[in-house]
Amino acid sequence: MTHEQFRTLGHQLIDRIADFLASVRTRPVTPCESPEEVRAALGAACPLPETGEDASVLLEHASDLIFEHSLLNGHPRFYGYITSSAAPIGMLADLLAASVNANAGAWKLAPMATEIEVQVIRWLAQFLGYPANCGGLLVSGGNMANLTCFLAARAAQAGWDVRKRGVPGGPPLRVYASSETHTWIQKAADVAGLGTDAIRWIPTDPQQRIDLEALETAYRQDVEEGYRPFLVAGSAGTVSTGAVDPLPDLAAFSKERNLWFHVDGAYGAFASAIQDAPADLAGLRLADSVAVDPHKWLYAPLEAGCALVRDASALRNAFSYHPPYYSFGQEATNYFDIGPQNSRGFRALKVWLALQQVGAAGYREMIEDDIALARHLYELALAHPDLEALTHHLSITTLRYVPVEHRAGVGSEETEEYLNQLNQRLMEAIEESGEAFVSHAVVNGKYALRFCIVNFRTSTADMEAMPQLIARLGSRVHAEMSSRGVPQHSAIR
Ligand SMILES: *Cc1c(COP(=O)(O)O)cnc(C)c1O
Repeated sequence: MTHEQFRTLGHQLIDRIADFLASVRTRPVTPCESPEEVRAALGAACPLPETGEDASVLLEHASDLIFEHSLLNGHPRFYGYITSSAAPIGMLADLLAASVNANAGAWKLAPMATEIEVQVIRWLAQFLGYPANCGGLLVSGGNMANLTCFLAARAAQAGWDVRKRGVPGGPPLRVYASSETHTWIQKAADVAGLGTDAIRWIPTDPQQRIDLEALETAYRQDVEEGYRPFLVAGSAGTVSTGAVDPLPDLAAFSKERNLWFHVDGAYGAFASAIQDAPADLAGLRLADSVAVDPHKWLYAPLEAGCALVRDASALRNAFSYHPPYYSFGQEATNYFDIGPQNSRGFRALKVWLALQQVGAAGYREMIEDDIALARHLYELALAHPDLEALTHHLSITTLRYVPVEHRAGVGSEETEEYLNQLNQRLMEAIEESGEAFVSHAVVNGKYALRFCIVNFRTSTADMEAMPQLIARLGSRVHAEMSSRGVPQHSAIR
């Protein structure tokens, strides 16, 4: 590609992206196509081309494919998961980062990219009120951030050289987390060689927060039976309903017993910066490590997760394979030394630019807006005759559709079974409509529609349209199910 071709194609592509962004609101949230339809659009069976093709043709074709056949998580009515709308400056940042193709594995290979990442880590810690001299690095997302912290904890806490001798080198390790914890913890226990049996699942209270008494009991039993507890993981916003564990209590519990206290803040940690954050969120400042996800509430395009570790040397101790005399620049940060990756991309640029474009105050305001929108939806559901408001934590609201004639039966087994099926089908109907996209949560046994607001495009009007949409599609699904007769036993999917 010549420099002039690059210039022309780049301008054309940016124009197409700008048009796409301008049209997001008017598109269906998802085309809701089958795998067969998507494969047909792609020409999935087409063999690897033997000869090349003109880049402008390819970019046009690729743009058509992805604009027309994608779920749009940047759509103002996408509420399905904690997957955010991507900041346009982040899109430009990824292009810019690719231009120098910095390898942020070693300082020498990426001097400015490394220093920008160091600054980003410090700024993120500062935003959270976490010690600014902590260690940390950007990784692909929340799962990898949690895993990185988990491995740092394992190396620091095992009590033997677990990196050399592995987990058989000492008594069986144990970790503690609530039953609402994201599946990262299973992957981490597995990948770290402990096995998922090493996880003690602690039940939650009716607000989906870890039960401290049950934690204490499990811990005591394990110690008596010869296990070696080493880590307590709290959630700063659970993935399902956004519940915040009593983090200060978990911090105190861990400190007394010399356990590593980790906080999964992939979703909720950034909310600790706002004025009326749930008080318990501040407890993440006491953690030995925190996982946060700039690709959630900081609106970085995928992928950008971040692991923060209070004692910076714990990361080196968990990942470095260089003897202390090995010097690749003593003063400099070499990220291959403090994380699992070797070659690394320049993820920091998109986070760094967005932090400056918006500023800390701008981010606080956007996070507050999302929380206010979710609260508004909860209140609308409370006031609506056909809706039952279930939970509101941070920017996640769960609710369900309850036809008026079933109100009286709520709580009875038969009605609950029917409502579970009705709401499951309603969720699918909402998706098929293209008018919004929600997912589900099971809240104290009830199948709930789950609205996650992590989106700078979502407005009050979008929230106010939801009760009507749910009631309209809900009554249609209800009528269909009533006329057909409902199958008696179908489990919650
Ligand atoms: C999203 C999320 C994760 C996983 O993060 P990814 O970025 O998807 O890897 C873990 N924990 C919580 C609480 C989350 O919300």
